[in-house]
Amino acid sequence: MLRKLVLLLFVFTVFYASAQRRQTFEMFKQQAFNPEYSWQSKFLFDYDVHFYRLDISVSPTSTFVSGNVTIGASILVDKLDTFAVELIPEMSVDSAFLNGHKIDKPTRNADNVLFPITPIQNKGTHFSVRIYYHGTSPTGGFFSGVSTAYNKTWKKHVSWSLSEPFAAKTWFPVKQDLKDKADSAWIFLTVDSSYLAGSEGLLTAITKLPGGKKRFEWKTKYPIDYYLISFAVADYRDFSFYAHPDNPPRDSVLIQNFIYNSDNYLRQHRNQIKETAKFIELYVKLFGPYPFRKEKYGQCLTELAGGMEHQTMTTLGDFGFDLVAHELGHMWFGDNVTCADWSDIWVNEGFATYADYLA
Ligand SMILES: [Zn+2]
Repeated sequence: MLRKLVLLLFVFTVFYASAQRRQTFEMFKQQAFNPEYSWQSKFLFDYDVHFYRLDISVSPTSTFVSGNVTIGASILVDKLDTFAVELIPEMSVDSAFLNGHKIDKPTRNADNVLFPITPIQNKGTHFSVRIYYHGTSPTGGFFSGVSTAYNKTWKKHVSWSLSEPFAAKTWFPVKQDLKDKADSAWIFLTVDSSYLAGSEGLLTAITKLPGGKKRFEWKTKYPIDYYLISFAVADYRDFSFYAHPDNPPRDSVLIQNFIYNSDNYLRQHRNQIKETAKFIELYVKLFGPYPFRKEKYGQCLTELAGGMEHQTMTTLGDFGFDLVAHELGHMWFGDNVTCADWSDIWVNEGFATYADYLA
């Protein structure tokens, strides 16, 4: 993440995290369980996330999100009788299924949703839960989980997500634990067919749906932390090209940019956007192979005041040199290797700032 509010984020995160850790330590002593943060249900830590599949409808003119999320996981305890996710009360749960069987209505405890389930036995047992939900994600600032805006110059509506550090729960059911990366993720985004929707990994299909809709089917096979899952939707055009780093030899990296769909926009920004290839080639020389080279590096243009290093698909507000260089640096430092605790976010930001300096 970079720019206007990065200092605020830094201060907020360090103080918040350290305060929460002290509180957590007290809770650990008092209650003999060890949630990462005091607001998190202890049941979140009874399972290990392997896979997220988001299948949601989004729009460039609102923060309304609806659809379903499937979480594939395995249990870390001898017996799991409550399945917990984080999801704010503004998002309504419509129904849920454990391994395909409908489960009872959940109870809520603040931002935790607790599903009573037929007990799953034996540590290591795999299971999947699918949750259908809908709601309007609250918006109103840099750290909103979902934001929507209108660009007067290019006459484009755009919506985008930003989950760092704890806003993923404002738009999808999730376990917000830095130490529990999913092994892979699918993000399917249904939009009106005049729009494009960007996300992580490879765009494996664009499926036409009834009612003038299209589903953008993104899949990543790389481990991914919850806060690096994202979407952005607008009247975009795809401006793609390749970087040709020399490690590994004869390999190339797809750079896929979703920019506002305007000839003038592209004419004015083409050279600036193409700089991204040079940055990748330089960082590969300095840091080693691009970590997500079997998929891509991407950038979605939005009205975000700065940028956010969503894995393989950065969300940014412009293609300025420092911003592009900084967010790209995060692919090596922050995304591929991630801090285990938010109080160490300065490590991610320090390396990304250094990467920008090297560029
Ligand atoms: Zn950053």
